[in-house]
Amino acid sequence: MQVMANRLDRGVRMYQSEYEQKLLDVLHSGWYVLGNEVASFEEEFAQYLGAGHCVGLASGLDALWIAFKMLGIGPKDEVIVQANTYIASVMGITINGATPVFIEPDRYFNLDAARVEEKITEKTKAILVVHLYGQASNMEYILKIAKKHGLKVVEDCAQSHGALYGGKKTGTFGDIGCFSFYPSKNLGAFGDGGAIVTNDGAIAQNVRMFRNYGSDKKYFNKVVGANSRLDEIQAGFLRVKLKHIKELQEEREQICDRYLHEISNTAIELPDILEGASHVWHQFVIKCEDRQKLIHYLKTKQIETAIHYPIPPHLSEAYQYLGIKRGSFPVAEKYADSVLSIPLYNGMKKEEQDYVIACINEFCM
Ligand SMILES: *Cc1c(COP(=O)(O)O)cnc(C)c1O
Repeated sequence: MQVMANRLDRGVRMYQSEYEQKLLDVLHSGWYVLGNEVASFEEEFAQYLGAGHCVGLASGLDALWIAFKMLGIGPKDEVIVQANTYIASVMGITINGATPVFIEPDRYFNLDAARVEEKITEKTKAILVVHLYGQASNMEYILKIAKKHGLKVVEDCAQSHGALYGGKKTGTFGDIGCFSFYPSKNLGAFGDGGAIVTNDGAIAQNVRMFRNYGSDKKYFNKVVGANSRLDEIQAGFLRVKLKHIKELQEEREQICDRYLHEISNTAIELPDILEGASHVWHQFVIKCEDRQKLIHYLKTKQIETAIHYPIPPHLSEAYQYLGIKRGSFPVAEKYADSVLSIPLYNGMKKEEQDYVIACINEFCM
């Protein structure tokens, strides 16, 4: 049996006729940018999260850099972020000319809040919290530190649509929550998309203006903005998917519950969940000391895996200018060398799950 790391086509088939109908509706409507679908999606997504406002944007990266820009963060400012995140989180900071200050992750792969305070300087303006792989971060602790030092909090929720901390959805804790609707995300479109959510009406208004060349009235441009709009077709698809998000989420949870209970191999370390947090399983990430051997073994069994992420941002070519040497973040670097994401997708068949579990259990290091 062949099992791929991800199969987006399976997810399409679950609600195929609804997607097709939506596509035709938008196509026939004659309105393709900033119309009814975007406005309705923004309202529905804000309501789903329990956020005051949602503004649709062109991508998750746009949501991040526009968030920092709206908070007035730029050159000479520092933003705290975990060292093991996807590089887009860091780009959201550096596009504005600000400097990322990396923090080691905890054993849940999220920001280790206990290590934040020692890195705060007079230049620190914000904390970027990434709810990595779909698990909510320790928001109680992080908000306490932010409050004590007068820091803004931005949440990168590109992987955590619907994840809870203390019963409250990620994206609604900080000043701004940033979402991506890239196709592989838990709430994914069939193209690029993103959004900002906030409880601050003024920020929402400014983002709304900024995404559309800085104008809230056609040809009256108040600021130099960007073109970063979620389009009608993607918003329409997202509305269809959002209606089904509960069952999509339950399916991922069932698969990962099986992985947690049925994978039993001393060579494999399974993920852990923080008390008070929920996990929406964007990825099921295991650790293995001899990862290369495991990848190779699974390949011979025709099971595909993925690494999220093999190179931490501070060691990437793009961030050599920061001058951070290998060895500076041993926990994050160790994760980069040992994490492995095993197959997980909506529409994953029971036989596929059985096969992945059986093969991993037979692996010998
Ligand atoms: C996907 C992702 C982004 C970027 O989103 P895009 O829509 O691809 O621009 C940012 N941060 C994290 C953690 C992501 O997983």
